[in-house]
Amino acid sequence: MRELGVDALLLSTGADLPYVTGYEAMPLERLTMLVVRADRDVEPVLVVPRLEAPRVVEQPDAFGILPWDETDDPIRAVAELARGARTVAIGDQTWARFVLALQAVLPTAAFRRATDVTGPLRIVKDVAEIDALQAAANAVDDIAVAMRARGFAGRREIDVHRELVERMLDLGHQRANFAIVATGSNAASPHHDPSPRVIEPGEVVLCDFGGTMDGYCSDITRMYSVGEPPPEVRDAYEVLVAAQEAGVRAATVGTECAAVDAAARRVIDEAGYGQYFVHRTGHGIGAEAHEDPYVVAGNTTPLVPGHAFSVEPGIYVPGRFGLRLEDIVVATDAGPERLNRAPRDLAVVD
Ligand code: ZN
Ligand code: ZN
Ligand code: ZN
Repeated sequence: MRELGVDALLLSTGADLPYVTGYEAMPLERLTMLVVRADRDVEPVLVVPRLEAPRVVEQPDAFGILPWDETDDPIRAVAELARGARTVAIGDQTWARFVLALQAVLPTAAFRRATDVTGPLRIVKDVAEIDALQAAANAVDDIAVAMRARGFAGRREIDVHRELVERMLDLGHQRANFAIVATGSNAASPHHDPSPRVIEPGEVVLCDFGGTMDGYCSDITRMYSVGEPPPEVRDAYEVLVAAQEAGVRAATVGTECAAVDAAARRVIDEAGYGQYFVHRTGHGIGAEAHEDPYVVAGNTTPLVPGHAFSVEPGIYVPGRFGLRLEDIVVATDAGPERLNRAPRDLAVVD
């Protein structure tokens, strides 16, 4: 914070607060906010609604707790703690109502993004964080494998969605963040909302699901075909597998994120499907399902050991079908390491 000229760091809703304290603010109208001063002699204080204070696991060595009662003004309390700060860094996902109220009571302070402070810490995962990502990846791998033995025909997308959510919770995730189930032509919409549509023989089923386990996220996409896939699907899927492999192989330490995107994209372009790959190749993952570093054209960030990110190219042919294949990868000195190891073939299911 001193290097950046940040006098006070204010963290509320979002992943920064649990990253530094282990406590996640409830996304509600009652303000929760950690105030960290750059001054060495001032301890960080978590301003928290009194009724939510029992949820906080106290860490007196790390931060104090200031509970506020229903008729107190928590904005005043934060302003008091941040008094004299010329530059305030505030969490990206802090509600606008609180940012505006704080700007009103701290009129001389310059506000900037807390990401400037927390981003460099969060983007490089240490061993414990990679272990947590691996444990979450193992759980969704097991689900992806189990789904190969399940029948899909005759079920609705939302039924499969519910099964994925339940399985994530059963296997140790505290929260399911998403479970996209997209069948047939619905799969041409990359973030399709699971619907009551009934899955028919001959269709592909895209399952993209992930959640949060002990503070770290999982995210995997696997493809299933109800019966033998039509030739156009089989051909496109072969291209997709090669593109994903090329993206993973390119993800060596020192390589720019943009080059990883380009490596995957080139395979799809050269096979003639370029117009159907409509999104970036991947995103960082950690305490949030999507975070830095983004694997996208223009991102010149070079990979360093401990960067964790998805490699998830897709081919989406409107009105026909959609395909995506996604693994989480960690950059290491020994080369790119996939955390997901579930089979990557197009699984033929009933
Ligand atoms: Zn996505
Ligand atoms: Zn993803
Ligand atoms: Zn995904």
